[in-house]
Amino acid sequence: MTKYKLEYIWLDGYVPTPSLRGKTQIKEFAEFPTLEQLPLWGFDGSSTNQAEGHSSDCVLKPVAVYPDPARTNGVLVLCEVMMPDGVTPHVSNKRATILDDEGAWFGFEQEYFFYKDGRPLGFPETGYPAPQGPYYTGVGYKNVGSVARQIVEEHLDQCLAAGINHEGINAEVAKGQWEFQIFGKGSKKAADQMWMARYLLQRLTEKYGIDIEFHCKPLGDTDWNGSGMHCNFSTAYMREVGGKAYFEALMAQFDKNLMDHIAVYGPDNDKRLTGKHETAPWNKFSYGVADRGASIRVPHSFVKNDYKGYLEDRRPNSQGDPYQIASQVLKTISQVPTDASVSAAA
Ligand code: ADP
Ligand code: MN
Ligand code: MN
Ligand code: MN
Repeated sequence: MTKYKLEYIWLDGYVPTPSLRGKTQIKEFAEFPTLEQLPLWGFDGSSTNQAEGHSSDCVLKPVAVYPDPARTNGVLVLCEVMMPDGVTPHVSNKRATILDDEGAWFGFEQEYFFYKDGRPLGFPETGYPAPQGPYYTGVGYKNVGSVARQIVEEHLDQCLAAGINHEGINAEVAKGQWEFQIFGKGSKKAADQMWMARYLLQRLTEKYGIDIEFHCKPLGDTDWNGSGMHCNFSTAYMREVGGKAYFEALMAQFDKNLMDHIAVYGPDNDKRLTGKHETAPWNKFSYGVADRGASIRVPHSFVKNDYKGYLEDRRPNSQGDPYQIASQVLKTISQVPTDASVSAAA
């Protein structure tokens, strides 16, 4: 038997954006535990905005398990928060009720800032660094400093070792701003991995004395870039059948559901989706081929391929909850009729 360090991880009850929480228990297993072997656990919900002090128990139900690359015999146990009966989802547990579809693929591009001493990493104590321009995909100390790349590389290695589908990294437009991409098949699979990747990044940067700023416009109404979490998506029908008529019907439905999307695309998004800095205004839906100033960017390959493939919704922001984002995308897609025999077979 081996003693495993199980890190139970969950989302707390803070609004509008939940934070990640985690605590460890040690358990013996003959080999790396499966999801089925992991017991329910509990925590004090009165300390996480999930219960009142007089009745504070909440239940942690394991829903996904990954090797923990930072610990010997470590296990990352992603959990849903349940009521004391263990079966009713807590009101803060969005994952329990979202739409899912294994044939729907999601690629999230998480942008964020490194923050140290209350300002973006690399910003001088007062004033600003040289204006934006050289930082995006930049190289060299004056562009990316001396620690950021070390962190993103370590984070990449940790994600890959945990079995998370990390797909890439780039330095972003503002100094101290970076991006990584996570891809998954199914909304839960993709969003679970995004939350785990966020967890690993926040835990990793503790030892550097650096925080991750997920707010979508941390530098306010300035020329400094905001942070998004573009949602690239495709269903089996979009990849295999598609067509111009279906695409146009889909875009009409996205237009109609504008406010439902904005409602779950992350807080303060009106401060970011201004029409500047490669964004579309939050209150007007648009789409365009290769257009980074549109709500939805249609890749060239999509049009060339008879309107088949994936689309990029550029509106979700860096603080958005990927569970709710993916679910709303699936909801809108579900309202557009397809050829039933094809989608059933796909
Ligand atoms: P850009 O910065 O040009 O918008 P990225 O390369 O950062 O693009 O991100 C593209 C994302 O699209 C990746 O996360 C990738 O996984 C995702 N993606 C690629 N093909 C598909 C697909 N068929 N369905 C859903 N997502 C996809
Ligand atoms: Mn990108
Ligand atoms: Mn980007
Ligand atoms: Mn993008």
